[in-house]
Amino acid sequence: LMQLSVPLNFIGFIYREIRQGLTDIEHMFDLLDVKQEVVDKPAAKALAIGQGKVEFRDVHFAYDPQRPILKGISFEVPAGKTVAIVGPSGAGKSTISRLLFRFYDVQSGSILIDGQDVRDVTQETLRAAIGMVPQDTVLFNDTIAYNIRYGRPGATDEEVRRAAEMAQIGPFIEHLPEGYKAMVGERGLKLSGGEKQRVAIARTILKAPPILMLDEATSALDTHTEQEIQAALDLVSRGRTTLVIAHRLSTVISADEIIVLKDGLIAERGTHSSLLHHGGLYASMWARQREASEAEERLRIARATD
Ligand code: ADP
Ligand code: MG
Repeated sequence: LMQLSVPLNFIGFIYREIRQGLTDIEHMFDLLDVKQEVVDKPAAKALAIGQGKVEFRDVHFAYDPQRPILKGISFEVPAGKTVAIVGPSGAGKSTISRLLFRFYDVQSGSILIDGQDVRDVTQETLRAAIGMVPQDTVLFNDTIAYNIRYGRPGATDEEVRRAAEMAQIGPFIEHLPEGYKAMVGERGLKLSGGEKQRVAIARTILKAPPILMLDEATSALDTHTEQEIQAALDLVSRGRTTLVIAHRLSTVISADEIIVLKDGLIAERGTHSSLLHHGGLYASMWARQREASEAEERLRIARATD
């Protein structure tokens, strides 16, 4: 019996580890509100990642066959470049990020990474190559260190700390009574939207993926937080192939290409200055955002001088 107890403990340990892993993955899918619908092909290979070029070729997609969401989308993100996707709410922007991560398969057309169709590679190697900072990050009910280390489970405490610093959340964590051991998530400390997003950025910094997929938060963050997040995002996207669903003007201005999505089609595309010059949908979106931020600024000055 004595001889058996060690292996049994060990099996128990392995079981708990696997269980935790499964729970996390299931949890991820729950959080992202998607079903795990896709399966690896029997002959699926590991993604051979090179420079991380991303291509969408005439992509058609619908969640419900009655209602097409993407109706023929083609674009390319050259290795190391940044492409921004903008457009009205419901246009299909987040859907593009879900398709790249292969939460769903396209109905027709294809999505390629360094020339390999995402349907031909294992989901594990596909997802290892992409860092996703979603619109709403939901944290695991665990320590803040666990939540950051999730990006690379082998990372040392020092690496976790450095990632947190780069994501502009280090000082916040150090001021918590329990620091990096503070419990977060539904049953722990509630973090604000901006804090959660910075945890997700820290996680992605640790993961250091060749491809980045950022779905910027729309929620009204205060200007200071927004600038801090922007600085963290700029840092992590430098030199990486980046697809960003952009709500902030600053991201859009510096993108190598801006794609304006409307009703499942690319309505306009180009650089910031060429789209402004064109005077179409992008130009009017830009003017509206400008007015809103100028009004906000006037309000702020008025309050400050009261
Ligand atoms: P955006 O990010 O541009 O606001 P989304 O890509 O999230 O838009 O959604 C595009 C459209 O697809 C919306 O009309 C949305 O309601 C619909 N949609 C999103 N997710 C699902 C889903 N899981 N099932 C059915 N419809 C969905
Ligand atoms: Mg969205």
